[in-house]
Amino acid sequence: MNHHYCPLCYAEIPIGSQICPACGRDIEAWERNTPYFDRLVWALRNPHSEVRMGAILSLQNQGRAEAAVPLAECALQSDVDVVQGLAVVEAITRLPNGAEKLQALSLLEKHPAHSVREAAQSTQNKGGSAG
Ligand SMILES: [Zn+2]
Repeated sequence: MNHHYCPLCYAEIPIGSQICPACGRDIEAWERNTPYFDRLVWALRNPHSEVRMGAILSLQNQGRAEAAVPLAECALQSDVDVVQGLAVVEAITRLPNGAEKLQALSLLEKHPAHSVREAAQSTQNKGGSAG
């Protein structure tokens, strides 16, 4: 089952829609004019968890330090989703060390799930402190 969602209003839409039938905006133009990285960060707010998981993995593969804080905020926003929370910690672990990474890990110390907090802490001890 492959669902397709409007990236702007998050409604479920037919695959290949250029104009979203729900919000009427031009999806193709938005995708053309918005850098891939920004679209991934935007997708972290998508209410559908499979879309968020895809964005988390893509941001992990992109390896850009500025993804760290948006990733942490994503985990805190849907904090009942422990699987996603751990995926976020894993993604942040693979990002370059620096201020953004440290900030993201300290945000995750407020996560309600013990396993997520623990994973964030062990990442921090492993060398998140560089920089
Ligand atoms: Zn829409």
